[in-house]
Amino acid sequence: MKEYGDFVSEADRMVIASLREFVTDEILPYRQHLDTDTERAHTHRVLNGLAAMGMHKRGLPESLGGIRTGAVSFVVGYEEIARGDCGIALTLSVPAWVFGAAVRSRNERVLEDLCRPFCGDSFREACLAMTEPEGGCNVECAEYRGKAIHTRARLEGDHWVINGAKQFPSGAGVSDVYLIACTTDPDLEEEGIALIYVPADTLGLSFSKPEDKMGMRFTDVNASVFLDDVRVPKEYRASMEPGKDAESLKNLLAWGRLSSAAFATGVAQAVLDIALEFTGQRHYGGKQVRQHTLQAAMLADMIIGVESARFYYLTAASMFDNRKVYGHHYSDEQIARATGAKIYAAETALKVCNMAMELTGSYGYMRNYHIEKYLRDVKIIQLWEGGAQLGRIDVARGRYQMVPYV
Ligand SMILES: Cc1cc2nc3c(=O)[nH]c(=O)nc-3n(C[C@H](O)[C@H](O)[C@H](O)COP(=O)(O)OP(=O)(O)OC[C@H]3O[C@@H](n4cnc5c(N)ncnc54)[C@H](O)[C@@H]3O)c2cc1C
Repeated sequence: MKEYGDFVSEADRMVIASLREFVTDEILPYRQHLDTDTERAHTHRVLNGLAAMGMHKRGLPESLGGIRTGAVSFVVGYEEIARGDCGIALTLSVPAWVFGAAVRSRNERVLEDLCRPFCGDSFREACLAMTEPEGGCNVECAEYRGKAIHTRARLEGDHWVINGAKQFPSGAGVSDVYLIACTTDPDLEEEGIALIYVPADTLGLSFSKPEDKMGMRFTDVNASVFLDDVRVPKEYRASMEPGKDAESLKNLLAWGRLSSAAFATGVAQAVLDIALEFTGQRHYGGKQVRQHTLQAAMLADMIIGVESARFYYLTAASMFDNRKVYGHHYSDEQIARATGAKIYAAETALKVCNMAMELTGSYGYMRNYHIEKYLRDVKIIQLWEGGAQLGRIDVARGRYQMVPYV
């Protein structure tokens, strides 16, 4: 546990120790099962095992039985889980992001009606639906200020009526609650952005069949979401305060990207461990593979990458924990930090997977060495939430007035 340095508290170390034991016993031996888990029986077993440890309550409101944590405590837990399976880490983390918007706006109706069941003993899935068929970056790009969101919400008496479609969100079709990023009027720009909660059984909400994907094949379910005159109480909008939902959308991006950095670092660490073990057991020229300078240099580069990725996201998380000095999580500067950490960790994880495959020869290409699964799973972390290109623009925006689209 020394790898987290002084970023973590004694309480965090206890959580990390329990998670490490859980991952070793309950996830690592079942990685292949999770990859072929069409009925999601292993996925639910693992998620409920983590729920039994209270992990599903982290980030949910204390008033409902949730567990308040700082950013560092929140994300290190996800690095630990992602060492076993980053799809599990993702699915476990989504409810805290989804209800984060209601918590920020002190929306008691949403918390009472929809969030309370998430604080029970078993794990429930939630879905944050931003991406649209017309584009994911369009919704997430701060410079568009909501003008490119196509899903429309109109107020009719005491209800919001929503029409539109969402593409690919995690948990689509299997979640209890959907947080839909809409606009009430694109001309209102950020003031038009509305984050609206929709319970799964609402009339007019439907889904395509799940996507057939490269990685996170069953631990995360992705599908299209269709909203056809979906009607929910007006209190289910996260906030009625002008501009507040736009702020919350940016906040969600900042947290999602910070957490993604921890997921990717967990993958990189897991694959580095596999490569270290393999190169310690296999020999050529009378020495362990890892005792040869050529391979030692590769392992050193992998170690440098993993440690840099970890210190990057931990530093960003510690700045999230000190709002007085570093400001709101939705500020351009904080989004840039979280985004930089995500880009760096995802690219490091991909590099580490490739290098591990070279170090393990054809063995690493075989499914029972798991490297190929980590590689398939982690690729999407680079692509989601705006991908590496919009991500880089957000990093630049955090530093200077970069206005590429106006
Ligand atoms: C496993 C998985 C999980 C996912 N989970 C979620 C989820 O929980 N919620 C959700 O809403 N979505 C989710 N997504 C969708 C994902 O976030 C988007 O696919 C992603 O943001 C990219 O959007 P896009 O595919 O529409 O590509 P586009 O936005 O069309 O981008 C295509 C290309 O153009 C570039 N590009 C486009 N616009 C810009 C821009 N303004 N600036 C710079 N570059 C740009 C992109 O970088 C990319 O290279 C998930 C997808 C998968 C596969």
